[in-house]
This record gives sequence, structure tokens and C-alpha cells, in this order.
Amino acid sequence: MAMDNPFEGKEIWFGVGSQDLYGEEALRQVAQQSTEIVDALNASGRIPVKLVLKPTLKSSDGVRRFMVDASADDNCIGVITWMHTFSPAKMWIRGLEALKKPLLQLNTQHHFEIPWNTIDMDFMNLNQAAHGDREYGYIVTRLGIPRKIVVGHYTDPAVADKIGVWARACAGWQASNTMNVMRWGDNMRNVAVTEGDKTEAERVFGASINTWAVNELVAAYNAVKEDQVKDLIEDYKAKYEIAPELLDKDYDSLFIAAREECAMVNMMRANNCTAGVDNFEDLGALPQLPGVGPQRFPSEYGWGFSAEGDWKTAVLVRIGAVMGYGLDGGASLMEDYSYNFTPGNEMIMGSHMLEVSPSVGTIAKPRLEIHPLGIGGKADPVRLVFTVAPKQDAVVVSLADVRTRFRMLMNVVDVVEPLGSLDKLPCARALWKPEPNLEVSAECWLRAGGSHHTCMTTSVGREAWEDFARIAGVELATIDAETTPREFERELEIEDMYHELSNRH
Ligand code: MN
Repeated sequence: MAMDNPFEGKEIWFGVGSQDLYGEEALRQVAQQSTEIVDALNASGRIPVKLVLKPTLKSSDGVRRFMVDASADDNCIGVITWMHTFSPAKMWIRGLEALKKPLLQLNTQHHFEIPWNTIDMDFMNLNQAAHGDREYGYIVTRLGIPRKIVVGHYTDPAVADKIGVWARACAGWQASNTMNVMRWGDNMRNVAVTEGDKTEAERVFGASINTWAVNELVAAYNAVKEDQVKDLIEDYKAKYEIAPELLDKDYDSLFIAAREECAMVNMMRANNCTAGVDNFEDLGALPQLPGVGPQRFPSEYGWGFSAEGDWKTAVLVRIGAVMGYGLDGGASLMEDYSYNFTPGNEMIMGSHMLEVSPSVGTIAKPRLEIHPLGIGGKADPVRLVFTVAPKQDAVVVSLADVRTRFRMLMNVVDVVEPLGSLDKLPCARALWKPEPNLEVSAECWLRAGGSHHTCMTTSVGREAWEDFARIAGVELATIDAETTPREFERELEIEDMYHELSNRH
């Protein structure tokens, strides 16, 4: 079992702007140098999606065709533009208006240094991205098109890294727009923040969120073949430490848990879904609240999962899993549970009843255990127990429906080791120190109305989520090392005004 590579077969189109004014020889050099630049970026190993150089763009018709083709091509997940020379920007208007893919403006040039002693008018005419990119930047800004801007020499690893992070966000956006979310049951009774406008979510994120009856899951459970369950248990044995009783007197419980995972996976695959949610209040005839299965959604299948019908967090976990593909760490449902107020060691403990995924990295091998669950009235569920491994600059991201729009809220956090054994805690957990500190983080989180459910990513950090939010056109409020409560409150007010105004268009 492994997640499908979300970058496989995907492309980012690289369009270079110029014009006919410079003559054939100059345009030949433009094409030659553009090839060198794209080849070097592809060879950097820092961009997970292949960049594809397209023929130099010299006219309004050419730009429009490039943008229309990029928008229509399912394999093209983003467009990078760079003006090698001066490219009069009115020729970009028709094309940019037609563009439906994420855009990155690269501001680079072929030469690293000004050739102090040899530079002449020919050289300056040929190499004037500082000039051309400003003309182009004006029109993109005037048209109000969101884009990432990356500045620097193309050989600088930091430039390739920024493009690479954006490429991951493009893949996240592509995954969001092709996502089918399977809801087993509605959301937990009386909970507010897990509610939301699913129709609006499809308009904004492209994700299609629908319900399947729990009876269908029960039927799928009954239809699972024994061999599939046994194979899955072998996979558990290979990956986890297993409590001895689960292979002995509680083997039936292990079998049931594995069979539930098979049923969920079979239904997800049959319906082409990449994120799912269940609800412990609505399990029909299922014997256990699914534990180990949902925990493995991100780690084994690259799928999103969230509990209590919280489809918004499931959407985030899927996006996080895709953006972080191939990196250390991953994405998981998380929930704020308990504070540690010890001075100098203030931290938050996150966990959930069962469903936190080991995809985010674990200190030791996860242990498959069985314990009673005080709520739900079902048989004791089998779950993976582990502590999330320390990680600096991880993030927790929340998605809330704030009535007139969606708000993403992100806190930059350092995942740390617990200060004690946690031996009596029968579920997966993480400890983190939030930026800038617990007091400010929690005050700002509450101020923004962020959810208690979050997606934690230990693979990609804040930049990928910032790129994603810009692409999606969704508000992203961030709590980081620089945040103060007073400025944060003001930022939220400004965001309110901004989105009220921009929603009018
Ligand atoms: Mn919860």
C-alpha cells in the first residue's frame, strides 16, 4: 500500500515573454537561454513537478493560445511566466483573463552578474527581465490575478525551493478540485464548527462532498473477503508493534478492525473518493468505531480523514497529504485537548479519540492496542497508539465556515517530546509549543474562531499553505512568531472588509 504519486505525469508550463521587435537572432538567444534555465530548474531536484518550456510568447494571440491550452490541459497544474526581454503587457491581457490555473511570476535573469567591463547596448537589450517583469507585474496586478512572485537567480537553491513549494500547492489545488469526499453519517449532533456549506465548498475548493448511508458501509463490511482481511493483518504485523492479546484472545477484535478498514477502503475506491469522514454517533451495525483504518487513511492511502463528520478537516488532510508527498512527515487530523502551563514549558497536547494518523511521524513504532471507549456504546475499538515525533516549524491548519466565506487559520508550531510517559493514555497524541507562545496563540485562535479540529502537517510548512490559500482565494489568518493579539485582531477586521469588498465581484 502506498499513496499514488500526485506529481506523476503532471506538468508546470513555463511561458517566456518577449516580442518581435528584437529580431530573429535575439529571439534565438532568448529561446536558448530559457531552455538552459528550465533545464537547470528541472535538474535542481527541488521541484517535484516537471517544468515544460513552451515556445517564446511574442503576441497577444500567442499568449491567449498558451493560456487557453494551459487551462484546458488536465496534466498542467500551474503556469510560470518570465519576461526575458520587454514584452508589452497589453499583449498579455486576453490570455491572462482566460487563465484558470495557478500562476507564478518568476523574476530572474540568465546572467548572474552585470558584465561590468563588456556590457553594451546589445547585451542590455537582450537581458532586461528587471524591466520586462515590471511591465508584466503591472498588468497582472491591474487584472487582480493572484500569483506567487519569486525573485532571484535561477541557480540559487532558494529560488528552486520556492518554486518547488508552489508546485506542491498546485498539486494540492489539483487534488482539491478532483476530490470526492465520502461522508458516513452526518456531523456530530449539536457541534457548530464542523458544520458548513458543502455547496459553497465545491465552488471554492472544487471538492465534492456527499453522503453514503452507514447501511452501505455495513453491507460493504459484510461483503469483505477473508483473504483481504488477512492480508491487511499481515501489513499491520509488518508495520506496527501489536499488543499480544490482539493476536491471542482478542484476535476477533483485530479481525473486525481490519475488516472495517477493508470495507471503508473498498467503498472509497469504488466511488473514487480521496477523503472520508465517519461519526461515532451513527455507526449502524458496525461492531467498532473505526480506529486503525481511519488512522491509516493518510499514511497508507494518502487520503484525508476526519472524525465526527468534519468533512472540512478531511479536505485539509487530503490536501496536506498531497502537498507533502515524498517529504518526511505527513498530514493528520489533530485536536487541541489539554494545556501544560509550566513556565518555560507551555505547550498544547493534541489528540483524538482514535483517529490521529502516524503519517506525521512517530517517536517509536506505533503500537496496535485495544481499549474500551467510554462513548458510542460499541465494542472496544482497536487503534494505533504513538507519540508524534518532534518537528520544528510544523503547522496546524483549521478551516471554518464563517457564514459569508471560509476562513483558514494556521498556527506555526514546534512539535516536542512529552515531559512524561503518557503510559495511561490509550490514544495517539502530539505535544507542541505554538508560536509565538501558548497565551498569544490560544488568544488569537479563539479570536479567529478557529476549529478544535485541525490538519497538522509535519511535511510542508506555512509557505505551502500560504501558496494554497492564495491559489484558492481563501482567507488565511496566520499565527506565527511575530503575532501580537492587538495586530492580529486588526488583521481579522481588515480581512473582513477585504472579503466583503472582493465578494462583490
Ligand atoms: Mn473531535
